[in-house]
Amino acid sequence: MRKRLEQYWRSSLLALLCTLCASSLAQVDTLDIRLEQSVKEIISSDFDLDLLPAQSIYGQDWNARNIDSPAYDYKLMKLGYTLDLVEEGCEYVHPFKGRITSKYGWRRSRWHKGIDIDLDIGDPVYAAFDGVVRIQRYNPGGFGNYVIIRHYNGLETLYAHLSETLVTVNQTIRAGQVIGYGGSTGRSTGSHLHFQTMLMGQAFDPSRIIDFNTFTLKNDQATVNNTWFPYIRKGNTRANIAPPNARRYHKIRRGNTLSGLAQRYGTTVNRICRLNRISRTTTLRIGRTLRVR
Ligand SMILES: [Zn+2]
Repeated sequence: MRKRLEQYWRSSLLALLCTLCASSLAQVDTLDIRLEQSVKEIISSDFDLDLLPAQSIYGQDWNARNIDSPAYDYKLMKLGYTLDLVEEGCEYVHPFKGRITSKYGWRRSRWHKGIDIDLDIGDPVYAAFDGVVRIQRYNPGGFGNYVIIRHYNGLETLYAHLSETLVTVNQTIRAGQVIGYGGSTGRSTGSHLHFQTMLMGQAFDPSRIIDFNTFTLKNDQATVNNTWFPYIRKGNTRANIAPPNARRYHKIRRGNTLSGLAQRYGTTVNRICRLNRISRTTTLRIGRTLRVR
């Protein structure tokens, strides 16, 4: 009798566990299906994939959710890509003629992959070139309301922190068209436009091609290659490589010596001493952070 009861409990416990597993699996599955459906809906709604811009670079890869799609082709970019920035009948239009408040580059131990332009909430933001809207989303922890347009010249441009967007995915856009209004949505302190220029889903310094004083293109053509993406190492787009002149810090661990640190970070003991106002004989307290570059 006791044995049978034990068996009963064991089998019912097993059944309960199975039900739980199955239901959690089912949840994941429905979520995935829903996600797939929403992407399909976006793409299929009377949109002709043959009309996609720059198919010589991107083919028909058209992802309305992921910014870095298709994957960056490091080997191809070793050779470089020459882009005709100005197509016939398509002039460049500056997204917003404002003061630059932050440049592209290394900023507080990470890359700032765009240029920040000062504006007021509600100021109109213009599309830089002709193209088709690939992404229009709201990311509360990052870009806020943002838009990515793929252009016929092969570039993609991103406009972030908008208070309102006036365009939707798959919409054809003319250069100079108002795509939204300036704002401060997402991770932003004060209203500004975060503007990115991208090739193959990766951002390069917009000032390589745009003169931010005259609000015009520097050249009609640009040859883009790996050196335009200093944060990528051997195809790893998340490598976050610091520029050679960036400040770097080291937290002292047991066994660290000044000469060891100098060697490790490619600098000299004298320079580390100067940066931290210490002497060669200062005791390195474990846990202290030293600037090493
Ligand atoms: Zn920014």
